[in-house]
Amino acid sequence: MKLNKTKPPRKHAIWLGAFPKQSQKLNSPALAHRGRRLALAKTMTVRSDSVASRKAAEVDLKNKYRARVKVFLKMPENQFCWCCFWRGVSKVRRATNVHHSHGRGYHLELLLIEYLWIPCCSKCHPEWIHNNIDAARDLGLYAPRGEWNRIPK
Ligand SMILES: [Zn+2]
Repeated sequence: MKLNKTKPPRKHAIWLGAFPKQSQKLNSPALAHRGRRLALAKTMTVRSDSVASRKAAEVDLKNKYRARVKVFLKMPENQFCWCCFWRGVSKVRRATNVHHSHGRGYHLELLLIEYLWIPCCSKCHPEWIHNNIDAARDLGLYAPRGEWNRIPK
């Protein structure tokens, strides 16, 4: 006996015949990629999870940073503003913040590298240093050209 391997044509659901306009919409090319869009949505869920964990890691890093800055500014050599000193300001002011001489990094990878930190007063940093980059660079307070936001070699 010979088996007929071809499948009989599949009948459409009855309601497709009853609602021809709606059934046309269902067959539209926009819905043809439904499966792909569902897969994409799943990817996006995963992605948003990793964004959340990245954010959590960033908050963690910044908390660690703030704690380290407190310790850093209490060290005897970091009590006063290095920028005031090197600029020759007549009265060197107390350091209240940290200047990142090479930036913080594009993804904060330089944030905790303390040998790149420079104790500064609120008048020198951020205003003076970041508005006078060339002068700051001459004083050794700013990364050489092309090395901003990069780990120095
Ligand atoms: Zn200063």
